[in-house]
Formats: sequence, C-alpha cells, structure tokens
Amino acid sequence: MRIQYIRASVLVGVHVLILLHIFYFGDSTIGSVDFQEFFHSFLKSGLINSGVILVLGSFVFTLIFGRFFCGWACHFGAIQELSWIILKKLNIKSITINSRLVVILPLIVLLNYYVLPNVWYALNNPWNLEINLATPDIWAFLPGAIIGFLTFLIDGFLIVYFLGKKGFCRFICPWGAFLKIPNMFSMFKVRKTGECTLCHECTTGCPVGIDVSYEINNYGKVTNTNCTSCMICTSGCPSNAISYEFKNPIDETWNIKDFINSTKSYLHPNIKDQFLSVRSRDMVLLILTILFALCIDGLYGMGHFMSYGIALIAAFLIIKKRIIKFPSILFPLAIIIVFSWHGIIRYSIWKGIQEYESKDYVNTIKHLERATSLHLKQIGLFHIYLSESYFNTGDIYKSVEHAERAYQINPDYESTKKLIIFLQNTSQVKKDIIISKKLNDLLNNPKLAD
Ligand code: SF4
Ligand code: SF4
Repeated sequence: MRIQYIRASVLVGVHVLILLHIFYFGDSTIGSVDFQEFFHSFLKSGLINSGVILVLGSFVFTLIFGRFFCGWACHFGAIQELSWIILKKLNIKSITINSRLVVILPLIVLLNYYVLPNVWYALNNPWNLEINLATPDIWAFLPGAIIGFLTFLIDGFLIVYFLGKKGFCRFICPWGAFLKIPNMFSMFKVRKTGECTLCHECTTGCPVGIDVSYEINNYGKVTNTNCTSCMICTSGCPSNAISYEFKNPIDETWNIKDFINSTKSYLHPNIKDQFLSVRSRDMVLLILTILFALCIDGLYGMGHFMSYGIALIAAFLIIKKRIIKFPSILFPLAIIIVFSWHGIIRYSIWKGIQEYESKDYVNTIKHLERATSLHLKQIGLFHIYLSESYFNTGDIYKSVEHAERAYQINPDYESTKKLIIFLQNTSQVKKDIIISKKLNDLLNNPKLAD
C-alpha cells in the first residue's frame, strides 16, 4: 500500500503546483496548462503553448508507461475516487455500470467539440507554427466559480453515486478518450506474473471498474484502455499474481478480441453484485444521453462536461427504472419534458441568431421571442437582438420595450447603452414624447451614465 501513499502525495503535489500557478505565479510566463489547448490552439492555428506541451508529453508518456496522467495527476479522477471511498465509508451502496457502447461517448465528445471544429477551422484559415507559452491566460477556457463547483459536484460525486466507479472518466472524459489510443500500445502494463486464486481482490479494488481478474486470466494482462496505472490491483493482490511489467512491443501478443468488451467478464460470483450490466440497453442509453446533452449544452453557462454529466445521469435513470421495472411512467416523462423544453430553447436561440445574422428580422423575432419566453434566465443580448429586429420591422414600441429589458438585465453592457442612444436619435422616438422621456430617464440613470 506504500505505492498508494506515494500516489496520493503526487496528486496533492500536482494540485499544490496548480494552485501556486494560478494564485502566486500568475500567467505572465506560463499560461493555461489545459488539455483543451492542444485542440483549440495547436490543431486550430498551430500555436504551441504550455497546454500543448502537456498533451504531447502525456501522449508519449502513456505510450511507454500507461495512463499515469489520469491516475496520478487528474483532479476529476481524484475527486471520483474520493467520492467512491466516501460512499463506501458511509455504507451508501452504489453499483458500477457495465456497458459496452457507452464507452464511445467520450470519443464522440472529443471529436464533436475538440477535433472536428478545430480541424475544419484550420483547413479554412491560415495555420502557422508558433511558440508562445504564456497564451492564453489561465482562465481562458475555464468556467466561473459556480459552474466549476456544479461541474465537480455532478461529474465528481453524483455520477459516481449513479453510475459507479469513475463514471465520468469511463463515459464522458474526452482527454481519457484521447489517451486510450497510446494506452492501448503502452509497453508497461499490469500483467499476470504468478498463480491467481480468483479471489477477485483486484477487480473489487480497481477504481475504474475493470474486471482485472478476468482480463489477466484470459489475456495475460489488463487490456482495458481505461486502466489508469494506479497500482491498486498489483499492490492489493494477496497472491502476488500480478505486476506492472515492461514488455518489448515486438514480443507483445496483439489480438483484436482482447480489446472488445467480453460478454463473459463481470460474471464471477465473487464480484457479480458489484456491477450492473446495461448492455442490452446500451444503444438507448447512448442515444438518450447525446440527445439530452444537445438539449442543454451551453445553456445557463454550462460547459460540455457538465451538460453531458447531467444528460448521462438522466438517461441512466430512465434506463434503470425500466430495468427494475419501476411502475410509474411519470418520472421518465418528467425528465423527457424538461430536456425537450430546453431543446426548444436551444434550437430557438441557434435559429434566431442565424436569422439575425442573415438580417431576416421577422424570423429573428419569431425564434428569439420563443427562446426568451421559455428560458429560465433572461439574457440581455437576446433582447438587444429583438430590439434591433423590431426596429427594423417598424415596431418602435416593441423595440424600446426590449431595449429597456436589456438595460434592466445588464445596465453596464456597452451595447445596451449604444442601442438606447441610437433609438433616442431616431425620428420615430423624437416624435413620441412618452417614449422619448422613457429613454431619457434610462440614460439619466446614474448606473447607465457610468
Ligand atoms: S487479486 Fe490476485 S489472486 Fe486475486 S483474483 Fe486478482 S490477480 Fe487473482
Ligand atoms: S487495472 Fe489495476 S492499475 Fe489499472 S486502473 Fe485498475 S487497479 Fe489501477
């Protein structure tokens, strides 16, 4: 277990360095050290910064040693392990989901949000190799405090409660998906090196929910690319039957069936009650998760990690109810209504902005009025678009009404001020004493005058 103390110390050390970077050193020399940089900076425009170096370093390191980054340095991984330990300590039973198809979800997140848009951008814009370690700043792609906290709550704790061990790493994390590729070929792996007594201590202890015992006895090594090289299995095996060992890739045996999730794993009586198979409903779970995530992604400031976390939990709750034959249809129905409602909002915003950009103001009004009436949060920018659209369709009263609302939502917003000054100087407003006074009152408000 000494190795686990070392791992815990490394995790703490890495996060002390992160805090020092953020709050002490700042970003004048080293900017954002984030995985996203590889995609948003390097793939997109050729910029090599600190985040890109981290990703390239992790890729090469994983190719040799395995996914150490995930097991020894990642805060999402650490929080999920911690929450699993807390659940066990509190005697709260959580079961680990065993699914085949849902493992492709991280790949979809990776391709859809990080690889394809940036490659597409690079193909249509200049791409110049450049080195600048100080850009972008630390907070460039990070959410604010509230969304950050909620993301950790959902992807660090709730997902573990509902989907079991490292639910976020296994089903959502795009960086994990990226590192699975070199991990498949890593030279150091957990390998069978002694007599196994099938006690299944390794499977029970594995924080990623791998059926270690099945894999080492059938393939001679852990082939599951979710392995994060944490060494819990090797240090916990009472028979010293497994070790973390190097093998020359030339001597390695490769078999495609080793990487296809076997239908015979997770079935041994020693571990059967620790896992819940959703294999028969994998496709439904995958489709529901993607649809739900598309309905909420970006709303209320939510990032991809948070929206996919919520979507996966919601989709799983629907599937789980059906597995245990929950009699009431109301619960899944309520979930579907909430997501459909937000799906309409997202579609209306997307369509409304498209129409606004193509100067089709009648349709802008149609879509953005729907979006603002359904959205639980009032967004000043949409009222600015509506005000401009109503003005362009000749409805000055509605235009002023939305300008006022935009001001009430965000009085310090520069565009609101410009819009009100513009409206005030139009001939329609100058002719109308009541509206003119209304706008004057707004402009004379000390907050806006700032
Ligand atoms: S802990 Fe060791 S002996 Fe027990 S099942 Fe795993 S490899 Fe075999
Ligand atoms: S297989 Fe072993 S080393 Fe890999 S994640 Fe599971 S416990 Fe850790």
